[in-house]
Amino acid sequence: MAVAAPEQLERTDPDELSRLVADARRAQLAWRDVSAGDRARVLRAAARVLRARAGEIVATIVAETGKPRTEAIAHDLFAAVDHARWLAANVPRLLRDERIRFPQLHLRLKRAWQVYEPIGVVGVISPWNVPLGIPFTSVATAVCTGNGVVLKPSELTPASGEWIRRVLEEAGAPAGLVQIAHGEGPVGEALVGDPGIGKVFFTGSVRVGRLVAAAAGARGCPVVLELGGRDPLLVFADADLERAVEGALYASFLNAGQACVSAERIYVERPVHDEFAGRLRLRAAELEIGPPIAPARVEPWQPTVLTHALPDEEIFGPVVTVEPFEDEDDAVRLANGTRFGLAASVWTRDAAKARRVARQIEAGTVWVNDFGYTFTTGQAAWGGVKASGFGRTSGRHGLYECVNVKFVDADAGRLRPPWWFPYDEVTERGLQATLDVIYGEGLERARAAWRHRRELAHVVRRALNR
Ligand code: NAD
Repeated sequence: MAVAAPEQLERTDPDELSRLVADARRAQLAWRDVSAGDRARVLRAAARVLRARAGEIVATIVAETGKPRTEAIAHDLFAAVDHARWLAANVPRLLRDERIRFPQLHLRLKRAWQVYEPIGVVGVISPWNVPLGIPFTSVATAVCTGNGVVLKPSELTPASGEWIRRVLEEAGAPAGLVQIAHGEGPVGEALVGDPGIGKVFFTGSVRVGRLVAAAAGARGCPVVLELGGRDPLLVFADADLERAVEGALYASFLNAGQACVSAERIYVERPVHDEFAGRLRLRAAELEIGPPIAPARVEPWQPTVLTHALPDEEIFGPVVTVEPFEDEDDAVRLANGTRFGLAASVWTRDAAKARRVARQIEAGTVWVNDFGYTFTTGQAAWGGVKASGFGRTSGRHGLYECVNVKFVDADAGRLRPPWWFPYDEVTERGLQATLDVIYGEGLERARAAWRHRRELAHVVRRALNR
C-alpha cells in the first residue's frame, strides 16, 4: 500500500557507493575512540530530537507509506525513541572490557580481557513498512557501538530514511558517520558487495534476504537477516475470548496486514472455534483499511477472514485464516507446520500451559495474551528462526551483533609454558598426568599427583625455566 514519496531524493549511482563508504569510514576512525559514555549521550539526545520532531517525522512516514498516524507513532516513533533510550542507558555497561579469569591450575597467573570493538562501517538495508523504526534501531545500535553506517532505506520511503541521519546529526553524531544511499535493488547490491562494508543488517523479504546472504557470503561478509513470517496465533478454549478476538483483529490487520509479524494463521481450540471465527469475521467487516491520505483515489481493502489453509507463503496483506485444533499437541504441530519462524502468540488463562506451548513453538518471539509490543522495546531480542532469518537486532544480543569480540591476553611472562619446544618423553608423560591432576574428579587428582610426581616435577621445572 506504499504511496509515492512526497519528495524525490536523488538516486545514488551504484558506482558512487564506495565514496559514501569511504566517507563513513573517515568519520568512524575518529568516532571509534569516543568513549561509550559520550556515544550514549548522543543517543539520549537523539531520543529528545525524535520527540521534538515527532509531528514532522510522522507526517513523512504517513505520506510515504499510507499507514495510519497511530501506527506511525506507536510503531515507528516508539521503537526509535525506546531503542535510543535503552542503548544510551546500557551501552557503557555492556561494552565495558570484561575480565576473563582462569581457575585452571596451569593458567592461574593469566590476566586477560574480552573487549568489544566496532566492526568499522556496516551496511543497513531496510523495508518500507516500518521506515523509521526498523532502520533507526539498526543504525543507532551500530553508531553507539562505534561504527559508521551506510543506510539504504526502501526506495518507497527515502524521506523517512533521511530523518535517521538528520536526527542523529542534530543529536551530535559527527557529520559523515551515517550516510544514506538511495535507490532500488542495484544500490543494495552494490552496498552488499562493497569491500569496505564489514557487516550487513538486512530487513526485508525472504527472497531478497537470500540474495543478500549469498552475495555477502561470496566475499565472506557476515549478515543479519530479519525476514518475513507466517505467524500463528493460538487461541485456547480457556482464553478471554473478547481479548483474543480484539488481539487477533489487530495482529492480522495492522498496517493492512503488511507487517512482518502479522498473524496469518489463527488456530482455535475446537469448542470455541465457531464462536471465535464468527466474532472475528464481524469485527473484521467493521474495519475499513486504506491510506489516511492518498495522492490518488485508492480503494480501501476489505480485511478477509478465511476458514481454509493457504500455501506456506507470506501473505503480507489483510488476509487471515482461522482453523480448529484439538489439543495442545495439535496446536503446537499446526503452529510449527511452516518453513517460517518469526513470531507467534498464545491466548489462554492457564499460565503453565502458555509457558509450555511457548517453549515448543519454533519462533524468535512468543507473546502470551498480547501481540507485537516487544518490537518497539530496546531490551527484547528481535529476530527469527528457520526461513525468517538469523542473528538478532535489539537487546544485548543485537548490540553484540555490531561488535567484534576480541580476546586480549596480558601475560607477565614469568612462566614458560611446558608444552613449548623441545618435546621429550618425560614432559609428555608429565603433561598426560597433568590432565588428571587438573581435571580429575575426587581422589583421582591426588592419586595422579603421587603416581607421577617425578614427571610432574619435571614439568614444573620446565615451567619455571630451571
Ligand atoms: P524487499 O525485500 O522487497 O526490500 C527490502 C530492501 O531490500 C529494500 O530496501 C530494497 O530496495 C532492497 N533490495 C531489493 N533487492 C535487493 C538486492 N538484490 N540486494 C540488496 N538489496 C535489495 O522488502 P519490502 O517489500 O520492502 O518489505 C517487506 C518484507 O520485509 C516482508 O517480507 C516483511 O515480512 C519483511 N519485514 C521483516 C521484518 C523483520 O523484522 N523480520 C520487519 C519488517 C519487514
